[in-house]
Amino acid sequence: MERTLAIIKPDAFAAGNAGKIISRIYQEGFRIVGMKKLFLSKVEAEGFYAVHRERPFFAELTDFMSRGPCVVMALEADNAIRRWRDVMGATNPAQAAAGTLRQEFGASIGENATHGSDAPETAAFEIAYFFAGVELL
Ligand code: ATP
Ligand code: MG
Repeated sequence: MERTLAIIKPDAFAAGNAGKIISRIYQEGFRIVGMKKLFLSKVEAEGFYAVHRERPFFAELTDFMSRGPCVVMALEADNAIRRWRDVMGATNPAQAAAGTLRQEFGASIGENATHGSDAPETAAFEIAYFFAGVELL
């Protein structure tokens, strides 16, 4: 079993799509081992996306992520990291395959509805960023 960190980003939460995305998570066979609604501060968003600090879109990304509430979840499944990224689709919704979450709910490369960890090390960092061990049961 593997764990990954998923986020229903502020655009999708504000649009009322959290329920549909959580429903899809169950359909796809993930177990939700941790879940909370958060309204990230700018500093908290910057800490989460620290690996992107030097990228030109860092300010835009962290403004967006701190614009409204989001839902953070730790998901568990075999091959959870790869499988959740496949369910989300490509970063840019315009390039995301039919039936993926970003194709259905994303508006642009910046406002793309969901997040997923990209490797075991980043998943471990990202899950620990939002959850204490006792919250992951
Ligand atoms: P995420 O990490 O959110 O799951 P990802 O792994 O598909 O997405 P990354 O390259 O890690 O993509 O980029 C992190 C986030 O930064 C993207 O999800 C997107 O919201 C934003 N982003 C990426 N590239 C751009 C860009 N060119 N312009 C604006 N925002 C961008
Ligand atoms: Mg990423």
